[in-house]
Amino acid sequence: KAFERFGLPPFLIQALQKQNIQKPTEIQERLIPAIKNGKDVIGQSQTGSGKTLSFLLPLVSGIDTKKNYTQAVITAPTRELAGQLYDELLKLLGEDKEEEITSRLVVGGTDRLRTMNKLKNQPHIVIGTPGRLHDMVKSQALDVHKTKFYVVDEADQMLDMGFIEQVDQVASNMPEDLQMMVFSATIPEKLQPFLKKYMSQPRHVHV
Ligand code: AMP
Repeated sequence: KAFERFGLPPFLIQALQKQNIQKPTEIQERLIPAIKNGKDVIGQSQTGSGKTLSFLLPLVSGIDTKKNYTQAVITAPTRELAGQLYDELLKLLGEDKEEEITSRLVVGGTDRLRTMNKLKNQPHIVIGTPGRLHDMVKSQALDVHKTKFYVVDEADQMLDMGFIEQVDQVASNMPEDLQMMVFSATIPEKLQPFLKKYMSQPRHVHV
């Protein structure tokens, strides 16, 4: 009953049971309700805290499957991290939901035209690295003007690797009422302009 009280749809509860995930971690406890309530959030935590599910669960439950356009974009600084997020997402969706809630992984170092083709049917959830996402938005292969959720994972690494500009460019094409979620082990001063630009009264959770 631990995850049930967040009001998540039954298929997500079942997916958690399948993975033998029973009790929410602290960050999940604190962020799932905030995200479900539409808050912008800053999650300051390390890998292993359960941060990924803290945003994936409310994000997936917030997708309107009756609408066929991109509603969530998730970005991570490396292809490997983006791939791991995508794997976690697919585990939550399972075979039953994979067709109903559509998702694609778009990363650099792969064929550009194939990436464009992957986005043709406007997947509900798009996960990718900043450069390729930005390229797809710029070339209008990815339409983010109705996106509800934007997740920036490992934001301090984004900064270190010089990707924050591309992360920002993608955000600048999203709607005013965007719900932004930023995850980072540290919150360096240089990240503040980006946070201030896009987030209003974020819930900051440090675990
Ligand atoms: P993360 O911090 O998101 O990288 O997650 C680290 C690992 O913890 C992943 O393998 C998750 O499947 C697992 N995990 C996430 N939430 C829970 C939970 N509530 N209980 C047990 N394991 C979890």
